[in-house]
Amino acid sequence: MQAVEVMRNPLCDTGRASRLPDFAAIRPKHVLPALEQLLEAYRRGVEEQIATSSEPDWSIVEREVDWADALARAWSPVSHLKAVADNAALRKVYNQGLELLTRHENWRQHHKGIYRAYRALRDSAGFAGLSGAQQRIIELELRDFHLEGVDLSDDDQKTYRELVMRLSELGSKFAENLLDATHAWTEHLVDEESLRGLPKADRKLLAAIAKSHGKDGWMIDLGEPAYKAIMTHADDRALRREVYTAYVTRASDQGPTAGQWDNGPLILEMLDLRYRLAHLLGFDNWVEYSLSRRMVESPHEVLSFLQELVEKATPAARKQFADLEDFARAHGAEMPLEAWDIAYWSERFRQAELQLSDEELKPYFPLDNMLDALRHLSSCLFGVHLVYDDTVAAWHPDVRFFWLEDTDGSRFAGIFMDLFSRKGKRGGAWMDVCLSRRKLNGEMQPPVAYLTCNFAPPAGKQPSLLTHHDVQTLFHEYGHCLHHLLTEIDWPQVNGISNVEWDAVELPSQLLENWCWEDPVLSTYARHYKTGKQMPGDLKSRLLRSHRFQKALTLIRQLEYALCDLRLHLEYDPAKPLDPTALLHRIRSELEVVHVPEWNRFLNSFSHIFGGGYSAGYYSYLWAEELAADAWGRFRQEGVLSPEVGQALRKEILAVGSSRPAIDSFKAFRGRSPEAEPLLESYGLR
Ligand SMILES: [Zn+2]
Repeated sequence: MQAVEVMRNPLCDTGRASRLPDFAAIRPKHVLPALEQLLEAYRRGVEEQIATSSEPDWSIVEREVDWADALARAWSPVSHLKAVADNAALRKVYNQGLELLTRHENWRQHHKGIYRAYRALRDSAGFAGLSGAQQRIIELELRDFHLEGVDLSDDDQKTYRELVMRLSELGSKFAENLLDATHAWTEHLVDEESLRGLPKADRKLLAAIAKSHGKDGWMIDLGEPAYKAIMTHADDRALRREVYTAYVTRASDQGPTAGQWDNGPLILEMLDLRYRLAHLLGFDNWVEYSLSRRMVESPHEVLSFLQELVEKATPAARKQFADLEDFARAHGAEMPLEAWDIAYWSERFRQAELQLSDEELKPYFPLDNMLDALRHLSSCLFGVHLVYDDTVAAWHPDVRFFWLEDTDGSRFAGIFMDLFSRKGKRGGAWMDVCLSRRKLNGEMQPPVAYLTCNFAPPAGKQPSLLTHHDVQTLFHEYGHCLHHLLTEIDWPQVNGISNVEWDAVELPSQLLENWCWEDPVLSTYARHYKTGKQMPGDLKSRLLRSHRFQKALTLIRQLEYALCDLRLHLEYDPAKPLDPTALLHRIRSELEVVHVPEWNRFLNSFSHIFGGGYSAGYYSYLWAEELAADAWGRFRQEGVLSPEVGQALRKEILAVGSSRPAIDSFKAFRGRSPEAEPLLESYGLR
């Protein structure tokens, strides 16, 4: 019995192309044996291949796809589970597995034999006979080999590997600290008076949190929904300040858990290691190194892009903030407005100007209706049908699985949707790859994606009701999923989102958000969850007006983050000490829009650039927004439900992945280079 169990490792089950991860069977004990076996097969395979082939041969690429995909199939469910169903046992093997993988990645990227095999392939007579996607794979591999330091001396290569390994550990530790700090703080309330201002639904949410901790009354935790509820609605200014303090000081040297999970030293060490890594490879700084894989060409190009937006947006943002202050003053606010007052008074200002609140809108956005809207759009624009399959088991009962079917009924892709906030699940929203499209044993392995959000779960009989912002988040992540799922390239290196320039990868996701502001989403699908009635015309027009309301302030916040990320990595120099938080405060005070307290430690929870892959790349949200606004212009001109434009988007952008440069795909879709006007227009700055 024992032997059979040991042999059957669900993470090594790579035989059938259509097999989804067997989440019910995966245990922490499977992780390391699976990885060790697959890594060994990869290493042995490479050495044999290199030793036996004397001529440049495409089969090295094919074999590598086999080995790498088997690894990805084993690791993807593990890293996904770590994000959505974290526990101590899993975390331990995850960290050990990550170390194995990072070491493997370093070995592979510094393998001179593989490098020479790819170089020989590019220089061979056969290269011209390869498809565009195949040629692109080789070119990208050679670029990466170069960037990963394959030309370095042995000593420098060793340093390189140590730096990468340590950076990976630090990134993981950063995220863990943040999760622990987030879970460490709660506030139990027994007096309903403290909840004054909170809508019913939010009170229910807080009651549900209390219940999940075995308590009566209400409880505030630092998950997005509870945090937002308090910041937006709680009349009690002291309570807002308390929750704000706990939230913006998570994993830092400040606030209620000061020093316990401080990410501050990790940030400094990461900046230093990144700087050293860039220098080792001959770049002046981490930004230059990062941009070598992007669509934009130089730090100067990004800085002037951001500066231009700052110039256009700052006067409008100051005016908008002054309007907010005037309103708050006139309505009895204690002045000056502090950071914990902004969301609260913004909501009141919005209500007064637009008489529009999330609470009024939420009943019209039950989650299931919005999923139906996504299905409708998918079929209208791309001829793709989403079919729910309740036989697919996942990691939690709330998770739903859908197949994507083409017009001929063939199932060619799948998507796991895990949409509710819960304990042990990382905050925020994201998509991730479960399986990549590729040929496997004569079958086509379907691309499969994870779509993860943290929406408020159903409460009692009430279904999950989304804010309009939640709806945009859902559409955004679905856009990423489509990029992965509608690929028509059979090579995982250049299909879906893989290898798409980071500053272009948000194009499909940001483009998809536009439909949240259009019919039929707002007419046919936005219906009251109790009565089934459409939104009243007046409510709809107020919602539409809200699209640009105080939007320059939002833009400024994005610009602050983007500038801070860029300047941190541009200005860091070990000879000149740098205080990251002070730099952020300086940028904010230069813009002179919103005052943020000195003890705010936003950077300590800035996962994008310290726990994820967006360092020196936060600007790419805005950059991609420019691309998306411009692409949307074509839908506006030719019809937002135009199947022709939808099919063009599918064919020229979604289907091709990174099999060609993003700029070429954009031009193929739009018929010209991107222009900035539509972006400024979308912010009401034109
Ligand atoms: Zn995104």
